[in-house]
Amino acid sequence: MRLLVVEDDPLIARSLHQALTPLGNTVEGFASHAEAGAALRHDSFDLILLDLGLPDGDGLTLLGELRERGDTTPVLILTARDGIDDRVRGLDLGADDYLAKPFSLAELEARVRALLRRSQQRSDNRLRLGALCFDPALGVASLNDEALELPRRELCLLEDLLLHAGSITPREMLENRLFGFGVVGSNALEVYISRLRKRLKDSGLRIRTFRGLGYRLEEERE
Ligand code: CA
Repeated sequence: MRLLVVEDDPLIARSLHQALTPLGNTVEGFASHAEAGAALRHDSFDLILLDLGLPDGDGLTLLGELRERGDTTPVLILTARDGIDDRVRGLDLGADDYLAKPFSLAELEARVRALLRRSQQRSDNRLRLGALCFDPALGVASLNDEALELPRRELCLLEDLLLHAGSITPREMLENRLFGFGVVGSNALEVYISRLRKRLKDSGLRIRTFRGLGYRLEEERE
């Protein structure tokens, strides 16, 4: 998933990055209202973590602008422990949840998972499409209720494709997830896609290639 962190305190921003990246997310961060606002006008994210006290404005203004445009990206606001007014205003403006500082990383992770789940209208953390299921808490994938023994990169790939099932997962996102941000051979990703295709043979699911864009996990129809 692609997360946006808007936080001007470098220590908190860093701990958010460190906590969220290993969960398989790509985390982008901005420290000001202006930068975050510009990013949000051009780009879409799966979740926004929003600090309210920014050096050049109030995070609530950013939230208001977002909702005014009809953007329904889930927003988790980060507030001071005693900032009850902010919390109420934030929720009124369309924030989905809040986290009071200082927060524990376990609480952060749980809130983020719950918001992502809610935004995808899933009732539990498991991702499913047809006969395929992935449990992110256990890191286990199964096909027709039988565990799939997958090496780490194939498992990451499967998880990302399932998270975006029915829509295209951008190629760049998959490459960053699998290989980090280093230089990647042009067909490195294809190697893993083709391994996964073999495993999904006769499962009723397929991975379609969209040239220059990415891949889509979908159900085969007829
Ligand atoms: Ca702040």
